[in-house]
Amino acid sequence: AGRLEGKTVLITAAAQGIGRASALACAREGAHVIATDINAAFLETLAAEQPSIRTSVLDVRSNEAVSALAASMPALDALFNCAGMVANGSVLDCTEADWDLSFDLNVKSMFRMTRAFLPGMLAKAAAEQGSVSIINMASMASSIKGFANRCAYGATKAAVIGLTKSLAADYVKAGLRANALCPGTVDTPSLRGRIASAADPVQAEKDFIARQPMGRLALVEDISPMVVYLSSDESRFVTGQTMLVDGGVTI
Ligand code: NAD
Repeated sequence: AGRLEGKTVLITAAAQGIGRASALACAREGAHVIATDINAAFLETLAAEQPSIRTSVLDVRSNEAVSALAASMPALDALFNCAGMVANGSVLDCTEADWDLSFDLNVKSMFRMTRAFLPGMLAKAAAEQGSVSIINMASMASSIKGFANRCAYGATKAAVIGLTKSLAADYVKAGLRANALCPGTVDTPSLRGRIASAADPVQAEKDFIARQPMGRLALVEDISPMVVYLSSDESRFVTGQTMLVDGGVTI
């Protein structure tokens, strides 16, 4: 049997990148996966690739949409809040609009999702005398380490870690585990976009690789196993942690 047999796992931003790889990895382990994203076309290609995955268009910036989805869903065993974006630049480059959008998409979305889905998850944990899991996408660029030109991004991902630890503390006796996932630099469509839009794309890619001691970017498949682990009962004694998967950056 798969490691996630019988579990229901919902993932945001699952149409591409780390979210998509995680949806596929969880489905391979037997989970009932609900993959959500704002990009309906890419969700369709995901469902075509793995027909057992259920898809639903969801904008995590809409409280109404989040509440409506939660009301229409069975209780979750695991929630992977993966949605997030990078706003480039130092504090002097960062506009108030960049700052607000970054916090809304990277942090407040998790507040919305958690408020909508947590009651059902806690009821499930109580009924089954087991544990449920929230996985929040942070980054090594956060309270863990500072990087140039990641002002708003680093601030949001540090906030994600704070939110995750507070959830872990509040519900540790109620069967909820909450952990933050902190990847290094991962080769995803949005990273490719950041490289392509740099003044010198060849140099930009070299620079991203140079800061990875293992000498390469992470593949999405380097990150998704941590999502499977945190969704599974194998991680039943793990809560409130920052799970670094960074190719040695923070050695
Ligand atoms: P990506 O940035 O390539 O794709 C992001 C996905 O989010 C897209 O499918 C997009 O449609 C979706 N999305 C955007 N706005 C949305 C919204 N309002 N509601 C729902 N979905 C929305 O994917 P990625 O690079 O794997 O990034 C995913 C997460 O991983 C982000 O939180 C990112 O900060 C984090 N992360 C990425 C890296 C990296 O190097 N790629 C490193 C550390 C952390």
